[in-house]
Amino acid sequence: MFKIAIVGRPNVGKSTLFNRLVGKKLALVDDLPGVTRDRRAGTAHLGDLTFTIIDTAGLETGAPATLAGRMRAQTEAAIAEADAIFFMIDARAGIMPDDRAFASLLRRADKPLILIANKAEGRAGTAGAQEAFDLGFGDPVGLSAEHGDGLSDLYSALREAL
Ligand code: GDP
Ligand code: MG
Repeated sequence: MFKIAIVGRPNVGKSTLFNRLVGKKLALVDDLPGVTRDRRAGTAHLGDLTFTIIDTAGLETGAPATLAGRMRAQTEAAIAEADAIFFMIDARAGIMPDDRAFASLLRRADKPLILIANKAEGRAGTAGAQEAFDLGFGDPVGLSAEHGDGLSDLYSALREAL
């Protein structure tokens, strides 16, 4: 089956989106960054699309010791495994240095990529829109994984990217 990996720094809402698309609480959602211990796969449904979704930690215990090394190991494994990438940022927090680190890894990947600005319920996230665009992946799809807003935009973006 077609595989999509959700990639991004800890706490942006990757596991929340994973759970929403899979329809079961397979992934652990926690306020503590990096609680996803390993990559998890599930069958996702989005509109008429069915695909395998891979949740990543963004940080991995037992991986190389530096932050950059841990992110690189997770991200590169996910990139290698996936046919397309959901790159998630936090619309409320704005673009952080770790987001840029992920972006530079992902820029080199030759896979369809959709930039997702999560936690965009209400009017959050409009302030960081230019910064997000400057990552070089086009305009982000605004999403609220928690509330389920923006899923039809995500569907459209995915259709367009494939
Ligand atoms: P991960 O580390 O990227 O997998 O992030 P999680 O899915 O574990 O979520 C981290 C935190 O962000 C949790 O407290 C979630 O409830 C919260 N969160 C996830 N999605 C949203 C959203 O759309 N809006 C808001 N406000 N919070 C969210
Ligand atoms: Mg997680």
